Amino acid sequence: MGEDVEIRYRTCPLCEATCGLAIEVRGDDILRITGDEEDVFSRGYICPKAHGLKALHEDPDRLRTPLVRHAGELIPASWDDAFAEIDRRLSPIISAYGRDAVAVYLGNPNAHNLSSLLYGPLWLKALGTRNVYSASTVDQMPKQVAAAHMFGHLLSVPVPDLDRTQHLLLLGANPAVSNGSLMTAPDARGRIRRIRERGGKVVVVDPRRTRTAELADEHHFIRPGTDALLLFALVHTLVAEGLADPGPLADLCNGLEEVEALAREFPPEAVAERCGIPAGEIRRLARELAAAERAAVYARIGTTAQQFGTLASWLVDVLNVLTGNLDREGGAMFPLAAAGQPNARPQRGPAKGARPPRWHSRVRGLPETFGELPVACLAEEIETSGDGQVRALITVAGNPLVSTPNAGRLERAIRTLDFMVSIDVYVNETTRYADVVLPAPSPFARSHYDLALYQLAVRNVAHYSPPVVADDGVPEEWRTLLRLAGIFAGQGPDADVDALDDMVAAGLAQREASERVSAEELLRASEGLRGPERLLDMLLRAGPYGLSLEELRAAPHGIDLWPLKPRLPELLRTPSGKIELAPEPIVADVERLRRFLSDGPVHDGLLLIGRRDLRSNNSWMHNLPPLVKGRDRCTVWVHPHDAARLGLRDGGRARVRSRTGTLEAPVEVTDAIMPGVVSIPHGWGHDAPGVRLSVAAEHAGVNSNLLADEELLDPLSGNAVLNGIPVELEPA
Ligand code: SF4
Repeated sequence: MGEDVEIRYRTCPLCEATCGLAIEVRGDDILRITGDEEDVFSRGYICPKAHGLKALHEDPDRLRTPLVRHAGELIPASWDDAFAEIDRRLSPIISAYGRDAVAVYLGNPNAHNLSSLLYGPLWLKALGTRNVYSASTVDQMPKQVAAAHMFGHLLSVPVPDLDRTQHLLLLGANPAVSNGSLMTAPDARGRIRRIRERGGKVVVVDPRRTRTAELADEHHFIRPGTDALLLFALVHTLVAEGLADPGPLADLCNGLEEVEALAREFPPEAVAERCGIPAGEIRRLARELAAAERAAVYARIGTTAQQFGTLASWLVDVLNVLTGNLDREGGAMFPLAAAGQPNARPQRGPAKGARPPRWHSRVRGLPETFGELPVACLAEEIETSGDGQVRALITVAGNPLVSTPNAGRLERAIRTLDFMVSIDVYVNETTRYADVVLPAPSPFARSHYDLALYQLAVRNVAHYSPPVVADDGVPEEWRTLLRLAGIFAGQGPDADVDALDDMVAAGLAQREASERVSAEELLRASEGLRGPERLLDMLLRAGPYGLSLEELRAAPHGIDLWPLKPRLPELLRTPSGKIELAPEPIVADVERLRRFLSDGPVHDGLLLIGRRDLRSNNSWMHNLPPLVKGRDRCTVWVHPHDAARLGLRDGGRARVRSRTGTLEAPVEVTDAIMPGVVSIPHGWGHDAPGVRLSVAAEHAGVNSNLLADEELLDPLSGNAVLNGIPVELEPA
């Protein structure tokens, strides 16, 4: 290594796994990225996406200057002019039509972004709209709804104790590729492999034979959308065979008998045909789960982005309880993060638990969940005239025209908006319609701490990363967000950002104060800091380990806070102070599942599901050459039996049609997909006019969300159905 080359360490900000990176830099030039062997969590592991970070930092298509639309064209502008334009155009809309006339869409990267997480609540409050949408309702919302009902908080999501479990049952999850989702687990592949190496067992249930399934002892195909039936049949078997034993948790649970009564109606024989799994196999899976010394059930997007998402998410943790595995080592456990974990904050007054919806969407009457509405209803809220019609849109790190259902309809709706602002690194399929685009900094130009993801980590760790490069020419994001907040609050485009920051800090200090540390002490201790660093320092000091930013700065490979420890009943925030095993709204939805089982038409046509690739993360990494090289990954997978029946051939093209749209894609014939199921990955379709993604345009693929139906939802969470969409295929 040359004399002027140094290594800087930081957490990879791209996905939920929080891997440690070692970055060779010369000045502000990024030379090489490898895994940080000393990282306390990832121990040197990285995936290919980490190498894409250098390409992202250097990408000539990445925005460095604001763009403002003049005469139909997005033209480079100064930051002051861009904010002035937002104030000039947006403020009159708010004055004339009210705050609900402005909708917000927050993309997935916000969950990885310290500024977004810390300053988002302020600017959203300043805007004051009820039309808040996010990627949550095309992803994990059902799990959060189930957690809120059962444990009292949307972030009380148990994760499998991967490093100590002896039996792992996974449904609709592919951690060998995702490295965990609602489960932060760098090198999940290695962790899963080690379960088998220590004599444990791994079982995967999925309509695809995924990379995780290839690592497992067993894989079972399941018809998309029937996971809740399978899970109920597992509960049924445990109860019917006297295998249900919550152990010490029994006294901490309400609703045990009600769950047992509900499960009686779902014997394995009744669900086997619907699920595509023989009854005998279901019984065996249940017995093995009950017999395992330490077991965990874990389920993800295949079970959440579907019609019974909340029921399936709930039943996963019912199983963890009934097998005595919730909150015990090697089972499904609750992490304890060092900062910002709401279920670790001292409880003031009686716990409220899950709240009923506070408002409903204007057109379809869909309920609000945790402050947001289902993104599947955004198009109709723009299209439908009347009081409260959405006339303006703000997107932050999001690409809803690629990521959300019936993208064709949403595109037509977005074209009719009076005004649109986007904060993004690219002019993508969505931001090309914006009137003002504000660049976000390079991931290397901002500090990083995984405030949200450590609350889902399979080991308690804390890792702060300062910026790797000094200045990217783009203001720090928190300053951009506070300038927007100033506009929304009526202070104009030149609001005093530092005064707003002081206000945020004072509010956070009040919220985090406890008997152990007062608000004044928190503010005093973090004197001299500004922006997210000051807020993070206060959160760490108020947190359960009493850490400080200074301590984290002194630990470039992170601080290990040890394996997960039992946290019940301390974390419960239900009004009863118990685990609610049979929450009323969830129990009420069982009737819908019952009808589906007894009366619903047996769909014998093709069902579409998504899939994830190690080199993709939703829609925004396809402009990075290292991540798109090689063969075309945006293909439609078809089982050989279906291919033969439909006259499709490997390497040929198929026309895929749903209620909402039609597209054509290359065919891959493979027995890794269940007969009767086809799969297309989401996040593609980059050849639209006006998109400034020169590399992605060469690897455009197709937008699978043209086929996703905005009418299909999980009613309790408002989550879109992206797995199990009825489609027809024919040769193109
Ligand atoms: S698994 Fe995720 S966090 Fe780890 S290197 Fe890959 S993209 Fe980054």
